Formats: sequence, C-alpha cells, structure tokens
Amino acid sequence: MEIHAIRGVRDILPDEIAKWHYVERVARRVLETHGYAEIRTPLFEKTALFTRGIGETTDIVEKEMYTFPDKGGEMITLRPEATASITRAYTEHKLYFPPGLVKVYCIGPMFRYERPQAGRYRQFHQIDAEALGSGSPYIDAEMIALLMTLLREIGLQKLDLHLNSLGDSTCRPPYREALRQFLAEKLSLLCKDCQGRYERNPLRMLDCKNPSCQDILAAAPAMYDYLCSPCREHLETVLSLLTAVGISYVLNARLVRGLDYYTRTTFEILAPGLGAQNAVVGGGRYDGLVEAIGGPPTPGIGFAIGMERLIALLEETGMHFPSIHPEVFFAVLGEKAQFKAFQMVHTMRGRGIPVEMEYDPKSLKSQLRKANKANVRYTLILGEDELAKGKIILKDMTGDTQEEVDIEKVIDLLQEKLPLQTSE
Ligand code: AMP
Repeated sequence: MEIHAIRGVRDILPDEIAKWHYVERVARRVLETHGYAEIRTPLFEKTALFTRGIGETTDIVEKEMYTFPDKGGEMITLRPEATASITRAYTEHKLYFPPGLVKVYCIGPMFRYERPQAGRYRQFHQIDAEALGSGSPYIDAEMIALLMTLLREIGLQKLDLHLNSLGDSTCRPPYREALRQFLAEKLSLLCKDCQGRYERNPLRMLDCKNPSCQDILAAAPAMYDYLCSPCREHLETVLSLLTAVGISYVLNARLVRGLDYYTRTTFEILAPGLGAQNAVVGGGRYDGLVEAIGGPPTPGIGFAIGMERLIALLEETGMHFPSIHPEVFFAVLGEKAQFKAFQMVHTMRGRGIPVEMEYDPKSLKSQLRKANKANVRYTLILGEDELAKGKIILKDMTGDTQEEVDIEKVIDLLQEKLPLQTSE
C-alpha cells in the first residue's frame, strides 16, 4: 500500500524551492544588515519548557503540542514556536554575559496540532527574530522597521501593521479586572471558548473570531486607557519613532497575543489577500519570559513570520522565480563518447558549470529534445567521428547555430560564454 504524508504536513517540491530560497536569502540579508546573527536550536525540547514559557492557558499548550514520551520516558515536545527555545539557549549559554543586547534569528519548521485548512498546517515554517537584553522602545521600533523593510524587499506592498500595548504587571491586572466586570453579565451570551477563557485568560476573549462575541466585545474597555505612565510613554515613543521613519500603523485595542509572556508592544502584520488566515507576522515584547524559564530578569522582543503565508502572498504578485536548470547539455553517440563525456562533465562541474549529460542515450534527436526541454543555453554533441578528430560540436540553443571546436578547448570556451555562477 502506498504511504502518504501525514495530514496537515506537506512536501516542498523542487519546482517550488526557488521561492523558499529567495525568501530565505532576502530575510538573511535584511536581518544581518540589522545586526541579527543566526541561531539554530533543536527541533524538540523538554515539554516543561513550552508549558512554562508559552503558558498553560494558551491554545498552543492546551491543544496543539506534539508531545510524547521518548524511549527513556522523558516527555518531549516538537517545538511549536521558536521564542521559548531561543530564550532557553540564551539562559543556558549565559548569552546575557557580558551584559548587552543579543539579536538572533532562526529559520525553520514549527509543529502544531491544529485543524488543517488553507494556510494552516501542522508542520509550517517561520522566520523568527528575537532581541534580548533591552527594554528600550527604540528596539521595538527598530524591529518593526526591520520587518517592513524585509517584507518590502521581498516584494510585498499591501500590508497593514496593527499594534497594541498589553501593559505590564502594574497596569494589566486592573485592566483584566475591568474587562471581567464588563463581561460578567454578558457571559451567557458568549461562546463556550470565551466562557472558558473568562476565568483563565480573559484578555484572550478579545480576539475571539465568533461574530456575536465580536459584537459584544466591541464596547469592551481598551487596554490603552488603562496603561500606567511608563507603559504609555513606551507606546508613545514607539509610535513616534515609527512615524519618523514613515511607517503607518493601526492602533488596535483588540490585538492580544495568545501567549502569556507578552508585555507592552504587541503587533501583527495582516495581508488582506489571505482571507481568514490573514496574519503573516505576529510579534511583541515579552519582558517576563526569560525569568519565567529560570534566567535572570531580561527584557526581550521578537517576531515570527509565517513562511507559507508569505509565499502564498508572493505567488499572488505574479513574481517570476527561475527554476534550477543546467546551462549545458552533453549529448553523446556511442560508448566511447559517453565515457569521455563523463570525464568532461566531472571537470566542468568542478569549474562551476551546471551541466547534465545523457546516461541512456537514444537518437541524437531525442537528446536534443531533452536539451530543449531542460532550457539549456548550449548543447555539446560528441560522436565517435568527432572524438577521433579531437573535436566536439558546440550548439548555441538560443541562436540555433553550431560550430565544431577543439575538444581540449571547449571547457574554457564555455566558461567564457556562460554568466559567472555566484553563490547567491
Ligand atoms: P504565532 O507564532 O502564533 O504568533 O504565529 C506567527 C505566524 O506564523 C502567523 O502570523 C502565521 O503567519 C504563521 N503560522 C502560525 N501557525 C501556523 C500554521 N499552523 N500554519 C501556517 N502558518 C502558521
């Protein structure tokens, strides 16, 4: 019986990979220009890291983690996001020493047991960046500016930045109480999820997608009106810095994050084209997280870009992505020619020329058809006659002309004719 991939996960096939490479390349360049260095953390961690770091009452921890005992009986979890692992690595390797700002990024797969639907997978990919060690609003603004630059460089223009402040441990508790009071009499009108969240995590009720809940919540008090003065000042500085670099935003009082460790600035970037799953980026400040997982008190802020959604948006722009294909095709007639071609192909590849040759040669016609299909610039044709004369035919596939050249000189000649292959 044929075995298929697991529900909610997908293969990225060779004809799609150019988009992924492109996005990763631009992301690395922009992140590194902003001083971020790559960090690679394991794909699985002790379950306790995520329950503590993400929060027991979040959807991720309650419903979505891939958790299982390993053969030694340890409970392990496939990472559902990168922030907890990065802060764990930061603490474990004492990256807070010497004191200062640590900026890191990571690109890779995340795992969540969610209901698969368009734009929502069980293994998906994120570009994640974290800045640890500074509570300055300048870092918040820099990070958002970085994101806007990154998305623009990738080729996306129509994006809405939504922003809110979630306050801190001084002003959030009174706000939470005010929200509870507002909702107390309306509880029976709200959905089951909201009723469940009322006790455990009332802020999460604000981003309920249920239309009748949204109607009721429209009149709810806004965190913005409850911010203590340091949090208010922080938010206002972030906003004025964004304005100073020409970034517009929507202040969205309903924007709350599912994760308990978020404080102050929180943001999302929405793309109208994506339908219900329209958030491409989510991020925010988490000044309590490092301490929560056993490190020294350390402010931090980060974001995660959903790569599947980003690529879906790129596809809508109609951008052209070159596929990987050889520049040269080596057609052969006869066993001796095939043997010689094998040696020459080895040399050419060693000199950086992308070349394919025929291993199951049929007629020259069928080999030329293959060369055409592969979209090569040049085809080399070697038969026993040419071989005996020390010659080879070089066919220019664009101009459809051909010449006989010295077999010893043909590699140099091709190298001159072909554009330089770069590593980018
Ligand atoms: P989060 O880590 O939940 O803040 O998500 C950050 C971004 O990751 C979202 O804005 C999405 O673009 C993307 N994302 C989250 N969950 C999924 C998923 N199950 N499938 C695809 N993309 C996702």
